[in-house]
Amino acid sequence: MNKNVHFEQSKENWVNRSLAAVWHPCTQMKHHESFPLIAITKGKGAWLFDEKGTPLLDCISSWWTNLFGHSNPLINKAILAQLEKIEHVMLAGFTHPPVVELSEKLSALTNHQLGHVFYASDGASAVEIALKMSHHFWQLNNKPEKKKFVCLQNGYHGETIGALAVTDVAIFREAYGSLLQEVFTVSSPDARKIQPGQTAADIARQCAQELEQLFKQEHQNISAIIIEPLIQCAGQMAMYSPEYLRLVRQLCDQYQIHLIADEIAVGCGRTGKFFACEHADIWPDFLTLSKGISGGYLPLSLCLTSDSIYRAFYRDETKHGFLHSHSYTGNPLACAAALACLDIFETENILEKNIGRSQDLANAFAWTKTDTRIEHWRQQGMILAFDVKNESLKNPNTFAREMFSKSLDEGILIRPIGNTVYVMPPYILSTEETLQMGKAVKSALEQVLI
Ligand SMILES: *Cc1c(COP(=O)(O)O)cnc(C)c1O
Repeated sequence: MNKNVHFEQSKENWVNRSLAAVWHPCTQMKHHESFPLIAITKGKGAWLFDEKGTPLLDCISSWWTNLFGHSNPLINKAILAQLEKIEHVMLAGFTHPPVVELSEKLSALTNHQLGHVFYASDGASAVEIALKMSHHFWQLNNKPEKKKFVCLQNGYHGETIGALAVTDVAIFREAYGSLLQEVFTVSSPDARKIQPGQTAADIARQCAQELEQLFKQEHQNISAIIIEPLIQCAGQMAMYSPEYLRLVRQLCDQYQIHLIADEIAVGCGRTGKFFACEHADIWPDFLTLSKGISGGYLPLSLCLTSDSIYRAFYRDETKHGFLHSHSYTGNPLACAAALACLDIFETENILEKNIGRSQDLANAFAWTKTDTRIEHWRQQGMILAFDVKNESLKNPNTFAREMFSKSLDEGILIRPIGNTVYVMPPYILSTEETLQMGKAVKSALEQVLI
């Protein structure tokens, strides 16, 4: 019997009404004729519940946003307290305590290397801000010809038109190619490229050499390079050596090119340090955050930058300022949620406790290391991923959706990307819940592989 029966029943109301009126993101809506859409009416901790109360373990932190569980009492309390004071006020000409405190805390987390914070609401907008700031900076410094961007193969930076131009995931770009500016795309240091006898650092050095060739030839025309430090998350959780970050930082200094570190997915402790760049002991010129920063509560994104960038815009004329805004820039409720998250990091020693949690993850998925249908087992902090070999897939085109569906039957939420299965859970799972997750993935996998 189909264990999805609970989800089917709920179609009576919310699901059918949603399919009629809501256009869902990243979805071919017709696929919902055969794959379930699930109406969630409650969340608590790492668990989501449908109308019937059927529990689902959220193993991907609700699209990588939810760090400390759903309906977290501390974050709830912080938002409610802020709600009683001021829900929103424009950030041009005005300021408010939560945005000041959050900016100061973030600056401190970078040892004040990136001491100026510009806000937006979603991740793609933070990327647009970094690109525009870099572009404008070179104009202000009398180098207007420095306007091209460099990005990595298989990189992902969002889906608005500027961010999509530096994104190299075919499915998102295909239909919109003619809208996008031209960019330079260089090889990804993806450690899955390792040949016998090589290390991930060797791949990093090869890719950095290729980048240096490009910089040598084109640096007069290049504004910035944008990368996802350590893990290309949407690009099938492709992990790489921190050596690449060190080398890119050196090359950027040498050729006067900005480094944009997009930490929207890998920031906020996901890789084991608060910022992924810390693994390489470097700071970028721009660092973007979103997703986890508000604990998965409210849309909030930001771009951190250095004093030298900030100073270039600090002049008499209005047009030399950074003239970019969003209506909800620096929303006080979202900043209050973010401050509550940073508090939790500090008071509950999250980064330290996550060392144990990431060991739990490794243990829960130890079975994947000996399964011959699986390759490229990889883990960095609180992300664990592996690829299913092509010859073991019943149907490569529908694997991700079928695996998603079978996992629901097993009581967990995962969303494979192509043939990559990954988990990216909130930082609150117990050892038992983590083991349960590993077992559920195994059972689901048995049903969809040859
Ligand atoms: C998700 C993501 C974005 C885009 O964020 P949105 O809030 O979805 O616009 C950008 N960069 C990276 C690395 C991401 O993972």
